[in-house]
Amino acid sequence: MATATAAELGTVSLVNISTEKWPPRHRTYFGSLEVRSPEPGEPYAITTIRGCTGVMDLGDKRTMEYRITAREIADDIARELNGDSGEGSFHGVFVAAGELPTAAELSDACRRLEEFQRSLVKAADLEWERTKNPMFITDLERRAARQLGLEKPWLYDLKPLADCPVCAEKIKPGVAVCRSCGAILDREKAAQYGLVPPEKSRREASAKQDAASKPLPEAGE
Ligand SMILES: [Zn+2]
Repeated sequence: MATATAAELGTVSLVNISTEKWPPRHRTYFGSLEVRSPEPGEPYAITTIRGCTGVMDLGDKRTMEYRITAREIADDIARELNGDSGEGSFHGVFVAAGELPTAAELSDACRRLEEFQRSLVKAADLEWERTKNPMFITDLERRAARQLGLEKPWLYDLKPLADCPVCAEKIKPGVAVCRSCGAILDREKAAQYGLVPPEKSRREASAKQDAASKPLPEAGE
């Protein structure tokens, strides 16, 4: 005897290609459902969805039972997980036609996920260009860049801010010059970007300090 197919059992495979972990989904008709994420090295994870019977309260102690198919539940969950992040939103969850996803279904999902991640990175790039403020880069955008293996300046700005030793304003780690007071915080780096002349910068700085504390006679006097 042949084994029963998924369709005959009334189950559907919800496939997830993203390593993102979601909190359990809740529905009144089945309670709580955890959507599996692939373990490292796995291309995808399957969560088997079963159909169930919902009970509708008609009032006056009358209820009506109704059947919800596995496909309807799976479609609903996939829509919810994929669809909360704007245009083209896709987070790697789809309902397989069969018990196991086909190569075509998987490659299509990979393409859609990458497309969406690239659009997130593009939006973050624009935001960064405009504001240079890491506050405006979302976790979703950071994750997209990491998953695409992209190096972005806005990826590394969540480090704790330090205080400028001169003016005590918050400064980003690794900056050469304090943007509030102009203090040179990293002379070597500042010189590298032409903010201070190289080589003689140290001597010049100390000469300036000397000049400030003890005015030298003007040349030609
Ligand atoms: Zn400062």
